[in-house]
Amino acid sequence: MAETIFSKIIRHELPADIVYEDDDVIAFRDINPQAPVHVLVVPKEAIATVNDIQPGQAELIGKMVLTAQKIATEEGIAEDGYRLVINCNRHGCQEVFHLHLHLVGGRQLHGISAI
Ligand code: AMP
Repeated sequence: MAETIFSKIIRHELPADIVYEDDDVIAFRDINPQAPVHVLVVPKEAIATVNDIQPGQAELIGKMVLTAQKIATEEGIAEDGYRLVINCNRHGCQEVFHLHLHLVGGRQLHGISAI
């Protein structure tokens, strides 16, 4: 997989507002937030897109979702709700080709039909 800006954040070579990190995932605030809470949950393993996820990585993907759940609780948005989004390739408007889960919340979001 080609090197991305997220690889540098994972290696702590670029600054980021990190809200959670362990051996498998890192989570940091999006530099261009679309809502009061906008955090990216990123696996440290190099996976470019959803299309590249392998069956053996199912636990890692589950961990990304559980990490987002934990951060949503810590940020105080769990009860009101939030959205988890993974963009894939051109039609999905993916910009950074290192897999990441957007956790977006803290205000009323529009329905899926507004996408
Ligand atoms: P996507 O369109 O799903 O690939 O989203 C990429 C996201 O990464 C966008 O929401 C960007 O604002 C965000 N982003 C890009 N560079 C950085 C950075 N250095 N730190 C934090 N977020 C970033």
